[in-house]
Amino acid sequence: MKEHDVIVVGGGPAGVSAAKAAAAGNVDVLLLEKYPTIMANKPCGEAVSKETLATAGVKPSPRIVMHEAYALVYSPSLIEVKIPQIGYNINKSLFIQEIAAQAAEYGADIHVREEVSAVVRQDSKYVVKTSRETYQTKVVIGADGYNSIVARSLGVSERPEPIPTVQYIMANCKLKHPDAVRFYLGNRLAPGGYAWIFPRSEKLAEVGIGVRGGVAKEYLDAFVRKFSDELASARIIDYRGAPVPIGGAISESVFDGAMLVGDAAGHVIPLTGAGIHSSVAAGLAAGRVAADAVKEGDTSKQRLSQFYKLYENWLSRINRSLKAMRAVEKLSDEELDTLARIFQADDILDLANGLDLGRVARKLLSHPVLAVKLARQLL
Ligand SMILES: Cc1cc2nc3c(=O)[nH]c(=O)nc-3n(C[C@H](O)[C@H](O)[C@H](O)COP(=O)(O)OP(=O)(O)OC[C@H]3O[C@@H](n4cnc5c(N)ncnc54)[C@H](O)[C@@H]3O)c2cc1C
Repeated sequence: MKEHDVIVVGGGPAGVSAAKAAAAGNVDVLLLEKYPTIMANKPCGEAVSKETLATAGVKPSPRIVMHEAYALVYSPSLIEVKIPQIGYNINKSLFIQEIAAQAAEYGADIHVREEVSAVVRQDSKYVVKTSRETYQTKVVIGADGYNSIVARSLGVSERPEPIPTVQYIMANCKLKHPDAVRFYLGNRLAPGGYAWIFPRSEKLAEVGIGVRGGVAKEYLDAFVRKFSDELASARIIDYRGAPVPIGGAISESVFDGAMLVGDAAGHVIPLTGAGIHSSVAAGLAAGRVAADAVKEGDTSKQRLSQFYKLYENWLSRINRSLKAMRAVEKLSDEELDTLARIFQADDILDLANGLDLGRVARKLLSHPVLAVKLARQLL
C-alpha cells in the first residue's frame, strides 16, 4: 500500500488550499480529485472580495480577474442600495488551478480522475480507497464538498441545512449595470434566498437563484421573465445547479487523524452563500495544522483541534451570519423594503458577512417593528 503523510480529498478551493499549506509544511501530500480536471466542476457565481485573492496568495492578474464590480442590493419593491466596495468576478477554474500549481511547487502530488470511495480507520492511520488504488495516510482532509464521502466514512451524520440553487450563464444579455453584481431579495421572488445577476462581461452574465421551499428553476425562470428588458434576447449557454450549505459550520469537523473543510464542513457564510473565501481559509488552516501534527508525530484529535483556533474568526463570522439569516428570513416583503430605506452599504456588509451585528442592531433599535423582529434577534 502506498503511503502519504497527508491525503486531501477534493480539488476545489478548500482542497487545493489544504494541499498547498500541507506541502509548504514539508510533508508528503497527495491531492485526489474525482474529475479529469482541477477546475470549478460545480456551478458558481464566482464573485469574491479582493481579500479572497490575498488570502489565497493569488495575484489579481487579468487572467484570473474577469471583471471588477461594485454591488447593488434590491428589496422586493426594487429599492436599491449601492455597495461601492469593489470586488472581483473571477475565473474560478484558473483561480483553483493557480493554487494547485503552488501546491505542486511545494511538492504536493496531484491525481485527477481518481475518486475516493471510502476512508477507513486502521490502527492509528487511515486507509483511503479510490477508483484506482488503496493508500495509507496519517491525516486525511475531507475537502470533497457538500456530499462529502469522507464525512460519511467518518460517520458524521450532521449536515448543514442546504439551499438548492440553479444558475444559468446567459449570453447576449443587455445588461443595465455591466459593472455591478446585483442581488434581489423577496419572499415572492426568492423565498428563503435571493436571486442574482453577476456580469462576466458586457453581454455575458451568471443569472441564478437560491430558494428554500420551492422549485428553484421555476423561480429562476420567473426572475428571467421579470427582467425581460435585459434578458429576453439572451441565450442560456450553461445550466447547472447545486446545494449550498447555509446552515452554519458543523459542530465537529476535527477527528483523530482527520479534518473536514469547506462545504463538507459548512464553512460558508450563510446569509450570502459565499464559500470561496471561507473554504480557502479553512483549507489553509487545516493543511498547516496537518503538516505540523505529522512532523510532531501526534495526529490525535486533540492536536488537530488547533484548526479551530486558527479558524476561530471565520467560525465566529459564520455563526453571526447564521444568526442574521435566521432573523432576516422571518421578515415580510414590506419589512425588507423598510430595511432597504434605512440601510446603507456598511449595514448590509456587516449583516450579511457576520461582522458587526451589534452596530447594525443599535441602528434599528428605535424602529417600531424592526427593533423587535431584527435588532433584538441580532443582539
Ligand atoms: C450556484 C452557486 C453559486 C455560488 N456562487 C458563489 C459566489 O459567487 N461566491 C462564493 O464565494 N461562493 C459561491 N458559491 C459557493 C462556493 O462555490 C462553494 O462554497 C465553494 O466552492 C466550496 O469549496 P469546496 O472546495 O469546499 O467544495 P467544492 O467546490 O464543492 O469542491 C469539492 C471538490 O471535491 C471533489 N470531490 C467530490 N467528491 C470526491 C471524491 N469522492 N473523490 C475525489 N474528489 C471528490 C469535487 O469534484 C470538487 O472538485 C456558490 C455555490 C453555488 C452552488
